[in-house]
Amino acid sequence: MTRLIDVSRYRLKPTPAQETALLEHCGHARFVWNLAVEQHRYWRPGRKSAPGFAEQCRQLTQARAEFMWLRGGSVIVQQQALKDFAQAMAGFFGGTHRHPGFRKRGRSEGFRIVAVKADQIRRLSRNVGEVRVPKVGWVRFRWSRAVPEGVKSYRVTRDAAGRWHVAFAAIPQPVPAPGTGESVGIDRGVAVSAALSTGEMLNVPPLRERERARLRRLLRELARARRGSGRRSKVKAAIARLKARESDRRKDWIEKTSTDLARRFDVIAVEDLRISKMTRSARGTIEAPGRNVRGKAGLNRGILASGWGGLVRRLEHKAPGRVVKVNPAYPSLRCSACGIVDREARESQAVFRCRSCGYVGNADVNAAGNIRQSIAHAAGHAVFAREGPRVTGPAHREPQRDLLLVR
Ligand SMILES: [Zn+2]
Repeated sequence: MTRLIDVSRYRLKPTPAQETALLEHCGHARFVWNLAVEQHRYWRPGRKSAPGFAEQCRQLTQARAEFMWLRGGSVIVQQQALKDFAQAMAGFFGGTHRHPGFRKRGRSEGFRIVAVKADQIRRLSRNVGEVRVPKVGWVRFRWSRAVPEGVKSYRVTRDAAGRWHVAFAAIPQPVPAPGTGESVGIDRGVAVSAALSTGEMLNVPPLRERERARLRRLLRELARARRGSGRRSKVKAAIARLKARESDRRKDWIEKTSTDLARRFDVIAVEDLRISKMTRSARGTIEAPGRNVRGKAGLNRGILASGWGGLVRRLEHKAPGRVVKVNPAYPSLRCSACGIVDREARESQAVFRCRSCGYVGNADVNAAGNIRQSIAHAAGHAVFAREGPRVTGPAHREPQRDLLLVR
């Protein structure tokens, strides 16, 4: 299923007083959620159905009348927890999700606010923003990147390390096609994250050398630290922070790159190859029959780190109907200049040298050129060429709730 919403996460910086209030919201949401889980736990096919959302809301009103501490909290937060639960159950019955389970204190803490208005999020300075949380007020967050337009809901969470985040959910807006008729082929590179048929090489920013050294040191320390020791959990948290930084940079790169490509080209061609297939098996293809199993293992990490799958997914969101998946024959052995397939042309991993026409180029760029040239063969493109670029997308739909659930 393609995700129909954009979720961008930011570090929330509550004051100590706000933190107490946020924790209370979390506690209420957890309490209500767990109550709903409890009610559904004993349900079996054939029995009288477990209470639905309406009935649960009635029960919530009763519970609020009964428990002072619950009454003091936000009814918005508490009702939303019930809605989330109802949605999770729908996902369960629909066969797409597991049965929702109990939420534990200190883990999976969070709550969600929907029907967010534009004036409930504002920017204070270059690096600081504020979001209005019911009964808590304006809470600051680190404006680490642009907040998407049209935020419909947000989720506030607290991780095991005690850090708070706010994740804004918005319907992604398709990027308009330039209308120039320009097309581009993209190849997931070996040495780079993505090579374009234009000759550009795109790279996910890796961890800096200093960060990598720190990561190695932390991993060594972790191996030495005693199980259950405070030292160990500290080291673990530090490692998690470094990994999170790496993944943030990758997401950021995916966002920027996909927008840029959608803006510059009318048609974007990528190879129709499931990333899972490539990463899971090293059995080989016609082009490289079974060699290099070890080399492939290293490559797998690179592919995953490069965020290739994420890039293609985001391209499909931002350029709906303009991403063409093609199936070129021998993309890495065919010369993109003259079309000859030459098994000896691959001089090295990086260089393609055609013995027929003399073309010399980066092997990944050559493959990207072949991918671009096979657009004409893709069935989808015939339709596309007649109708012109279609800029379609979800218009004013609410974000799909089940997709917003944090699992
Ligand atoms: Zn050639």
